Amino acid sequence: MKKHIGAHVSASGGVENAPLNAVAIKANAFALFTKNQRQWHASPLTATNIRKFKENCENNNLSADYILPHDSYLINLGHPIKESLEKSRTAFLDEMQRCEQLGLKLLNFHPGGHLNGMSVDDCLKTIAESINIALDKTEGVTAVIENTAGQGSNVGNRFEELAQIIYGVEDKSRVGICIDTCHAFTAGYNLPATDGYHNTWNDFDRIIGRDYLKAIHLNDSKKPLSSRVDRHDNLGKGFLGLNFFRMFINDDRFNHIPIILETPDESLWAEEIQWLRGKIGE
Ligand SMILES: [Zn+2]
Ligand SMILES: [Zn+2]
Repeated sequence: MKKHIGAHVSASGGVENAPLNAVAIKANAFALFTKNQRQWHASPLTATNIRKFKENCENNNLSADYILPHDSYLINLGHPIKESLEKSRTAFLDEMQRCEQLGLKLLNFHPGGHLNGMSVDDCLKTIAESINIALDKTEGVTAVIENTAGQGSNVGNRFEELAQIIYGVEDKSRVGICIDTCHAFTAGYNLPATDGYHNTWNDFDRIIGRDYLKAIHLNDSKKPLSSRVDRHDNLGKGFLGLNFFRMFINDDRFNHIPIILETPDESLWAEEIQWLRGKIGE
């Protein structure tokens, strides 16, 4: 199978439950939080958590290539205040190390925001330096930067800004991009239009480079083009529409990378995955 489709599943009760929740919706990819995403502190993973997580993945043919852990929402790797930046960098390193322990290869995160305390340029440089620090102290985990809707002072809504972060990262073999289709659309990339679709992905190749595309968050959008608001919708219920998802799932560019649903109504995930698979070749 070339398309690896899943959702951001719950890890409540322990990380080892996430692969089982993925299996329950017939996913062959998944995302998870390896700790509570709304708290700074987390107790370390136990040997049992780690062993069971690996077993549950292996027994269900869920390869680390298609597992996309997401970091805590509190982390801002471009924070303009020194103490807050340090706190974020420490927490991010912990997230990377948890991935290392679980044998995972990717860590997805939102780049950060300048909070009107520094220029966009300086914020992008700070983020790159934060990534360098974490990569230096870990092995085998790629830092996967997610594009944003550009809400508030968040950076990384334009491909140029994402490219600028990559430019500042020393080890280019361990940095990549996750494109969230809802964020891209509300940031101004007109994905549901045929020409907009092709222009967007051609721009990605030209400005960032195809090899850096490591994952997709596949979401519809409750908000219109260029609204810069981050509100996901279930597939076909928002402004992107079913035709976009049909085009997307038949596009070879997205073979062999995790494609993750973060759509709000989880009771529809199994159906959405099945629908996407059914559209392949249509
Ligand atoms: Zn996302
Ligand atoms: Zn979002």
